[in-house]
This record gives sequence, structure tokens and C-alpha cells, in this order.
Amino acid sequence: MPQLWDLPAPEAGRAARPNAAGLDTAGLKALVSALGEPAWRGGQIFEGLYRQRWTRWEQFSSLSKALRTRLEAEVDLSWPTIVQSQASEDGSTKHAFELADGKQVEGVYMPYDDRVTLCLSSQVGCAMGCTFCATGQMGIIRNLTAAEIVGQVVAMLNHHGHPEGRPVNLVFMGMGEPLHNLDHLMAAFAILSDPKGLAIPPRRVTVSTSGLVSGIERLGGFPKRPRLALSLNATTDAHRSAIMPVNRVWNLEALAAALAAFPLQSGERITLEYVLLKGVTDSPEDGRRLAAFARRFPAKVNLIPFNPHEGSGFQPPEESRIAALCRLLSEAGLPVSVRRSRGQDVAGACGQLVREGQTRKPKAEN
Ligand code: SF4
Repeated sequence: MPQLWDLPAPEAGRAARPNAAGLDTAGLKALVSALGEPAWRGGQIFEGLYRQRWTRWEQFSSLSKALRTRLEAEVDLSWPTIVQSQASEDGSTKHAFELADGKQVEGVYMPYDDRVTLCLSSQVGCAMGCTFCATGQMGIIRNLTAAEIVGQVVAMLNHHGHPEGRPVNLVFMGMGEPLHNLDHLMAAFAILSDPKGLAIPPRRVTVSTSGLVSGIERLGGFPKRPRLALSLNATTDAHRSAIMPVNRVWNLEALAAALAAFPLQSGERITLEYVLLKGVTDSPEDGRRLAAFARRFPAKVNLIPFNPHEGSGFQPPEESRIAALCRLLSEAGLPVSVRRSRGQDVAGACGQLVREGQTRKPKAEN
């Protein structure tokens, strides 16, 4: 019988023609070698794809015209396409991406004064079934490929005309449990962080897990890896198991032990994301248990008042309750911040835009 954490097999090779988008340097070298070209041209294509973010072969001015014509005829350059965008009053924009097989995922572009943060999806749907999450209600459909993960970044940066040199943060907090798709996630991470490409520093990439201990242990074994966040959301096993079924497999004690064993670099902290659900996870006792959990390893706490959506049955707490919890955690010596989900006026919780898009004809935006 399949277990909760068993991976669905990712689909591969859907296109008859090879697709260069999303390939790493080795893959691009193999591709051009198969065309009878010198392998080093693969490095030129890598820089064009990921540093310049070119999306049409005719833009590859570093290649000869003859090679561009040949690539145009024989090799696809196909990224996920933005098929729906909703701009929020707070400046963020939520995008729905259509993939080659017609499935959709979503990402969010969040500009700040000194940087831009992109929230990315790692799977179509999600197997984890968190009760407060719109994506969790879809179930798992399939893993994203590395190309589909990188493609969300390229598509959003191009859509918003992102200038080279402006810092980019990536957070895997969109659709899916990223550690449930670790192989493709790490392949994408290698491309995203490559200094010859998008050059996003590893410390600017954060993977948020629902508590998949086997994935946390695997992630800790990579010498170069993203930072880790845990979507905690409850402080007793009874509460957590009720809203996050993964807790029935790995309870709070197993999670704390895995996080305490996770190898951190100097100054690195594990982020604990704690969604505040009115009357469910916002009591002073919750605050004290959260502090006790967080003190077992270097941690910082993000309190996230719930972003209500139709059918969820949950509400955010009052501001006074949020302030009291914040004070309690600070007094316990923990770095703590309150994070509002951006895009609350445009179906801000992960999975909502795609779920809405399935019942409404999407509007083409690019
Ligand atoms: S909160 Fe994250 S892990 Fe849980 S169901 Fe939603 S997408 Fe999956």
C-alpha cells in the first residue's frame, strides 16, 4: 500500500523534440554535441538561458547565425507559460503557470525596496493534505521537473523586467512539499545558484517543509543546499496531527530531533513558520510550547496570521493575541517576526489561484 511520503514518478520526455530550457551545462553540452557542434557551445547556451534569460533562439547573439537557425529547427526552448496574473494592492503579483502537459501551478512575485522575493511551487498539487491549505485539498498530481521549477523563476523575472544585479530571494512555499521532490528540487537549485547563470546565492534560497523527516535528513547531506524552514503550525501532537497529517508519521519529538541534528553553517538558523489560527494555535500555552520547541536548535520564528479562504473554516486571531504571542517568544530569547501573507486580496494562500483557474477560463497575460 502506498505511504504518504512515496513519490509519484515524475513524467519525463513528453516532447518529441529536445527542449533546452531547464538543462544544466552537462545536458546542454550533450545536446549540442549530438548536433555535431563543439561541446563548449553548451556553456554559451547556458549563459544565454540563465544569465541573459533569453527565451528565443534568435536572441542568442553569442552563437553563429547558422547554429541559431539549426537550433530553431531542431530544439525547443519551451518554459512554463504565465496564463493568469493577479496583481495585489500590496505590490505582489500572483501568477498561474501552464506546463507542457496543460497542468497548472502558481508562483508569487513580491517586490521589496532592496530585493524581490519569488514564491515557487515544487509539485502539481500536494500529497500532504494539510487541512488549512487549498493545495492540500487537490491531492498530489505529479512532481515538477527541474526545468519547470527554474522556468517559474525565468518567467516571473522576465514578465516583471527584472534588472540583472537586483537581489532575488527564492522561497519554496507555493504548491507542493519541496522535500517530497528533492531530486528535481536540487537539480533546479544547482542551475539557479550557478554563478554563470542566475547566480542566486544559496543563502537566498529557502525550502519550507511540512515536516518530512526523511527529506530533512537527505537535505542535510548536501554540501551545498538551500536554507531550511519548517511549517510548524501547532505545538501539540494532537493539534498538529489534526491539521497536518504528516505529524502522524513523524511527530514533534521526531521533528525536533531531526532539526537538532541538521548540520547548520555558522550563523544559520532554521525558520519556524507558525500559522496562527484563531482558537486553534494561538493560546499562551501554544506560545510557551513553541518557545520550548524552538530552543532545541538555532531557530527564528515567523508568526503568520491565517489568510482566510472560502471553505477553510479558519480565521486569523485578533491583533492583541498576535502581539502577546510575539512578546512571549521575544522574552524567551527567540528572534521573532510577524509575516502577513502578501496578496491577500488576490487569493493569496497557495493553491487558490490555480483552483480558481480550474473553474474559470484563464486570461492570457504574456
Ligand atoms: S501546506 Fe504545503 S505541505 Fe501542506 S498541503 Fe499545502 S502545499 Fe502541501
